[in-house]
Amino acid sequence: MIRSSRFITPKQLRKRYIFALSMIALLITVSQLSLQLLIAAQESDSDLINLAGRQRMLSQKIAKSSVNLVQATGSKTKESHRLELREAARLWVKTQQGLQYGDESLGLPGHNSEQIQALFDSIQPAYEAILVDVNLLLEPDISHAESIAALLNIQINEAKFLKSMNEIVFLYAEEAANKVKRIQLFEVFLFVATLLVLVIEVFYIFSPAARRVEQTLNSLKKRYRDLEKLFSATPTGMLLVDARDLSIVVGNQRMLKHLGLDPKRPGRHKLDAFLPQAHQANQTFLERLRLDEQIEEVEIVLDNPLGQTLEMLASVRQADIRGRDVYIIGFTDVTDIKRAQKIIEHHATIDAMTQLINRRTGLLMLEKAFANAQRYHSPLTICYLDLDGLKQANDRYGHAEGDWLIKTFSKIVAESVREADIAARLGGDEFLLVLPQSSDKESLELMQRLKQKLHKIEQDLCKAYSLSFSYGVVQLDSTRHNNAQMLLAEADKQMYLQKHAKREQDPLSPEQDPCSD
Ligand code: GH3
Ligand code: MG
Repeated sequence: MIRSSRFITPKQLRKRYIFALSMIALLITVSQLSLQLLIAAQESDSDLINLAGRQRMLSQKIAKSSVNLVQATGSKTKESHRLELREAARLWVKTQQGLQYGDESLGLPGHNSEQIQALFDSIQPAYEAILVDVNLLLEPDISHAESIAALLNIQINEAKFLKSMNEIVFLYAEEAANKVKRIQLFEVFLFVATLLVLVIEVFYIFSPAARRVEQTLNSLKKRYRDLEKLFSATPTGMLLVDARDLSIVVGNQRMLKHLGLDPKRPGRHKLDAFLPQAHQANQTFLERLRLDEQIEEVEIVLDNPLGQTLEMLASVRQADIRGRDVYIIGFTDVTDIKRAQKIIEHHATIDAMTQLINRRTGLLMLEKAFANAQRYHSPLTICYLDLDGLKQANDRYGHAEGDWLIKTFSKIVAESVREADIAARLGGDEFLLVLPQSSDKESLELMQRLKQKLHKIEQDLCKAYSLSFSYGVVQLDSTRHNNAQMLLAEADKQMYLQKHAKREQDPLSPEQDPCSD
């Protein structure tokens, strides 16, 4: 895989950052250490140069004290010069040792360059000779002639010593200056290296990081714009609602249309103003919303200022947009679907001709009523009804007359039952009444009322045939009826027996028109 050199992963950037910072830290530390070393070296070098200079003076002092001692006349003066010479010589020896081999008390390191060590070696004979002659001079019983000879030796050797010591002091100073120069050079190197690291950092870290931040920002901006486009173009109604007070922050075109608001001047509104509290579903929705629940396709009812009532499916997600807690709510208008659903449901459950419950639903409701009555030990009665002589009405007066009879009877039935009762057309001219909380006695009374009503219509309309029906009424008895089918079969049977008995009693006679003279 070829990677663009411009594209650096955050992990790589982090590594480079750490490396560069470590490099800078290292360079600063080294620079600081070298500075400390320089200061320490300068201190030690100045001590060295001072002591080397003093060594020159001491040799001069030894020569001078030797002269004084030789020329002194009084014993007291002699003794004083002797003391002076001894002290100068002691210090001179200590310093000479220290300069060559080191002396902590004097702060001398004792590491000399080969050149300086060679000079020390070259003055060693003069140094030793001076020491011998000084010791001679310090002898109390030395003769005057010996003193003069020793003094001359001291002066000759002191001159040699002084000459080389001058060179040594000069070399010490030169070496110290060189050392400072080297460290200065090293400091310059460290400074340049630090600058170089910073320049590299600019090219390989800051620039890629800045580019990356810019890219990220641009892509975020683009994503935000895309989201805005998606928000406005989505066919679903969308709202951003403030979580604190349910005020509408923004809505897309579709949603503003649902809310009946002008897209150019939607104004400030609260979501709950569009959700009438009379609907339990709306109340539950708002409660869940306030509890910050994630809501998935909940049915709600929306009223808008244009007087429209819309049934909606709403889904809610919580979000934080620019530091503000909001709900993103998606709305799908299901008003038309619901309407269609109701129509379908109506067709699936209602008999189109009579507007009574159809056979399938009637039998399902019977099952349900049977189960309830069993569970709560409550009374249940059913009636099986069948019109008498419909075929004949069809044959004699036409199919429309038969239809009229079915519809008229259905109307009477629907009007006569209670709200909790179920009136179903099982098919043709057969009907089923399911009467919860009713005894067979009450049900028989209902049958009588139906008969009377039918008879009254027959009278009022001067029908040429009698309007009647047969029925079977059965009250649920748990000891005999194990299921709804048994109950239904018994009612059917009773109806059939009644019909049969009617035929026995009243065999078919030619119809007479009761309204003719
Ligand atoms: P019974 O007295 O023994 O009940 O006889 P019936 O003439 O009423 O006939 P039955 O109950 O045995 O059969 C019902 C008849 O009703 C059969 C059919 O011709 C007629 N029918 C069924 N559905 C309709 C309908 O929707 N409209 C009309 N006009 N007639 C129907
Ligand atoms: Mg019939």
